[in-house]
Amino acid sequence: MPMAQKTYDIIIVGAGPAGLTAGIYASRANLKTLVVAGAMWGGQLMLTTEVENFPGFKEGILGPDLMDNMWRQAERFGAEMIFEDATAVDFSSKPFKVTVGSKVYEGKTVIIATGASSKWLGLESEKRLRGRGVSVCATCDAVFFKDKKVVVVGGGDTAMEEALALSKFAREVKVIHRRDKLRASRILQERAFKNPKIEFIWNSTVQEILGKDRVEGVRLRKVDSNEEFELACDAVFIAIGWKPNTEIFKGQVEMDQAGHIIAEDTTKTSVEGVFVAGDAQDYHYRQAITAAGAGCMAALDAEKYLEGI
Ligand code: NAP
Repeated sequence: MPMAQKTYDIIIVGAGPAGLTAGIYASRANLKTLVVAGAMWGGQLMLTTEVENFPGFKEGILGPDLMDNMWRQAERFGAEMIFEDATAVDFSSKPFKVTVGSKVYEGKTVIIATGASSKWLGLESEKRLRGRGVSVCATCDAVFFKDKKVVVVGGGDTAMEEALALSKFAREVKVIHRRDKLRASRILQERAFKNPKIEFIWNSTVQEILGKDRVEGVRLRKVDSNEEFELACDAVFIAIGWKPNTEIFKGQVEMDQAGHIIAEDTTKTSVEGVFVAGDAQDYHYRQAITAAGAGCMAALDAEKYLEGI
């Protein structure tokens, strides 16, 4: 059994907008704060370029710069950070334990802020052109494709929402779905079918995203005939679902079937003293600013809890 290290007032697991905002609030409140930031710290904004809708940056800010600012702000107030992944947690007794490799950290409270990861198709071209026309966030990037041709991949609620959001900017939106029926809820399907800018390409999968430095098209394959064809477009929005990063919390706190941690009364989980903020819990808004707001709430809730013990 690894040796326990120091005991902290608050251990925050995850360092996207939720975790780092919690870190700023907790350390500024003079609480002994550890952020287990993970090897891939910064969350999903590290994968985006320009962020134009985070309040306070009227000219916009690059996603990685925004996260770097948040990290430095938390550090300024004394939050400690480790850039390794938490590998296990034990919430069965207090203080709570968070294992990072061979070390165990103890916390009087824990804030879970491990976020979620978008699912990707797994194509080399998708990775290469990420941020150059390949995106997983229409709210973030639709504005860059005014009067352009875009495609959305997927047939669920996210794909319909992305297509509808894109239709406000793009000239045409083509939804590519691998079956001939959508998985999306009826209301979103109806909205998408009614929208004159949205067209559907059924029974087709994306084989490759075309373009050297930016997206120029997609190569598709018909599922039934294996026939391949190309389609010119300026952007590809991948909307095939996402997964909360909550594996290590399984069996420790209550979660729904998809792995979202259930929060009652804002940020409180099923374990007293363990709080949650951001996409690990929120499958509805999933914005940097809402995650940051929830991080603030979780830190305030943890502070209040600490005052009572
Ligand atoms: P989802 O419901 O799992 O749908 C994913 C879609 O992507 C499916 O149509 C699936 O095809 C397709 N897909 C998956 N892997 C693929 C691959 N490798 N290649 C091509 N296509 C692939 O995911 P979601 O739309 O992100 O929704 C997740 C959850 O959040 C759902 O419960 C949803 O209702 C909820 N949500 C709700 C709202 C809302 O109410 N406004 C908005 C967004 C999300 P198949 O259909 O063939 O499986």
